[in-house]
Amino acid sequence: MKKILFVIALCSRFGNAQAEDMSPVVTFTFDDAWLSQYTEVLPIMSRAGIVGTLFAITQRISHEDSWSAENYMSWAQLKEMEQAGWDVQSHTHSHPNLTQIDDSSLFGELAYSQLLLRQRLGVEANYIATPFGEFDERVMNFVTKQYQAHFRAWGGNEGFNDLTNLDPYNVGRYEVKADYTVDHVCGIVSDLHPNTWLVFEFHKVVEAQEIKPYEVSKEILEKIVDCTVVQEKLGKIRIMTANQVLEKGEW
Ligand SMILES: [Zn+2]
Repeated sequence: MKKILFVIALCSRFGNAQAEDMSPVVTFTFDDAWLSQYTEVLPIMSRAGIVGTLFAITQRISHEDSWSAENYMSWAQLKEMEQAGWDVQSHTHSHPNLTQIDDSSLFGELAYSQLLLRQRLGVEANYIATPFGEFDERVMNFVTKQYQAHFRAWGGNEGFNDLTNLDPYNVGRYEVKADYTVDHVCGIVSDLHPNTWLVFEFHKVVEAQEIKPYEVSKEILEKIVDCTVVQEKLGKIRIMTANQVLEKGEW
């Protein structure tokens, strides 16, 4: 009886030790490859000494029209981010709702963005964020054949992923919106439980006076980055790119 109790005590201690060892991970992801993600986000994150994951719309960075040229970064700028250590992944070629296009277009959207990222940057984009967070069974049949991971825009676990039970095709993201306060978002980071992988999702970063609901201001982003870095310096969390978590398994 004593022996059994000892084994149980050992098992539970070992279990706890394992859970404690896996400190939470935070990943900063940015969608679309807006110009402001190069002009504003890159300097903010570089100053803080961290990098993130960028899901690029390859047609927009090709600057095929003046609107794209004005609003999105160029291939040269994206290359600079990649060389600074950023993890560059796919957000399709032209950003359609994938559930509403036919099979050959769907295949093309997924494959062509990958091809361009390989040709222009020399990167293998193995992960995709589906535009508008729209996907269904048919879309996922294509995604699972062509990619190794799928990032949602919303839904599912809302960004609080479990590192001990991770489905790479259903990675939830926490979309940071204009009306979220710094205290709210930083509170979430400081309260993260062990084994949690929190994946932030950001879009365009703008001046405070011109903000839209799904955007954040430079000031807010800077404060969220700063408080997250403080938590990392305290040893409570780790900041990683999607690639470091999924491919390299560095957690
Ligand atoms: Zn998008």
